[in-house]
Amino acid sequence: MKPTLILINPWIYDFAAYDLWSKPLGLLHLAGWLRGRGFDIHLIDCLDVHHPGMPGNSSLTPPKRRLYGTGKFWREVVLKPSPLQNIPRPYSRYGLLPEVFEQELRKIRNPSAILITSLMTYWYPGVRKAVNLAKRVHPGVPVILGGIYARLCRDHALMSSGADSVVYGHGAASLLAALDENGIHIPATLPDVGRLTYPAFDLLTRIDYVCVMTSLGCPYRCQYCASHFLQPNLIRREPDEVLEEIVFWHKEFAVRDFALYDDAFLVESGNHAGLLLESLARLDLDLRFHTPNALHVREITGEIARLMHGTGFQTIRLGLETSDISLHGDLDNKLSKGDFERAMHNLLKAGFDTKEIGAYILTGLPGQTVDSVVETINFVGANGAIPYLSEYSPIPHTPMWEKALASSKYDLASEPLFHNNTLLPCWDESKKRDLPMVKRLVSQIREKYR
Ligand code: SF4
Repeated sequence: MKPTLILINPWIYDFAAYDLWSKPLGLLHLAGWLRGRGFDIHLIDCLDVHHPGMPGNSSLTPPKRRLYGTGKFWREVVLKPSPLQNIPRPYSRYGLLPEVFEQELRKIRNPSAILITSLMTYWYPGVRKAVNLAKRVHPGVPVILGGIYARLCRDHALMSSGADSVVYGHGAASLLAALDENGIHIPATLPDVGRLTYPAFDLLTRIDYVCVMTSLGCPYRCQYCASHFLQPNLIRREPDEVLEEIVFWHKEFAVRDFALYDDAFLVESGNHAGLLLESLARLDLDLRFHTPNALHVREITGEIARLMHGTGFQTIRLGLETSDISLHGDLDNKLSKGDFERAMHNLLKAGFDTKEIGAYILTGLPGQTVDSVVETINFVGANGAIPYLSEYSPIPHTPMWEKALASSKYDLASEPLFHNNTLLPCWDESKKRDLPMVKRLVSQIREKYR
């Protein structure tokens, strides 16, 4: 009999959360990979909006779903953890009711190990709850924690997650070592694992969309971003291999919506994204692509914009961050004067509508003024795009971390709950008081383009 592993995507605990093509791609990738190596995999996705055990429960309102597979999660307001007591907003657990999660755990007999992933550092209460319940239902079974929180806040995760092992190294070797330490060995590599090794979206209750990564890592070193720490090298997949994966999900599971999770999809597009888009254009499939992780503004040439429009890109998000070019020199070096205007010109000329183009604007950086954010919002609106505020969350191991520590009144170093971007932890109270005005300005521009 095959050894069994339970893989868990834990709850989100936050003031707000939204399913903007949010799937645990790393965990699903791992599920496909381990399945291809002879394990029996049981996935429990705490953020499953379609779980059959949920609609019958009248204590919660069913989540509203929106276009292209996006929408709200199940949500229950819960008590705030003590460090967040003074924040005057409701705090919620997003996802399945704990009793539904427990029932799922009980369905699985004699697992060899339980693997739990993690994402935002300040969502660790969801990790801790998943670990606790997993240990209660399956006492004695090793619980192994991995993912982004585990890697960024290793000491915190070791101390407070309750997991037996915390995987904080890079790549599959670290996980294999943790499995090995717990006496679990890879059963065998199946003779032709082929498609079984795609991220295991087929283990979800329903596939609303598929997330795809055509590359890992990013050549930029933006001060506020942990991409380089998490994935030091840029690794690109062969465009034909990516194409095959997209066609597989479309043909076998009728998937039309694909979210690109790359950090640097368009960088050096001549030998990567451009080739993929040309092949997609030739196949002329009825697909829609979305870029929630943002595209590099300076890479949007007329040809790339035309190919993106021709292959069904519907949601374009641009990593603008600020219209202050001198600030870009300090922050990220990813934009020069005129790049944004040129990208917008190319996108609109290719046939995209303003409603489809959004620009992320970083808000709440250490030392950033409210005026600079307001100017950027107006700049985005004047160039025919929709502004999206992206509130800054301080991240350990980023170049900006020390500056964040120095500028925040919160103890960011010892309490990851304070990394929550809702707190705008690196802005003082006078700047925070202007946030409603800033949000109104964003709404006015959105109204104008609706
Ligand atoms: S370009 Fe984007 S992914 Fe790359 S380092 Fe900067 S913010 Fe991170």
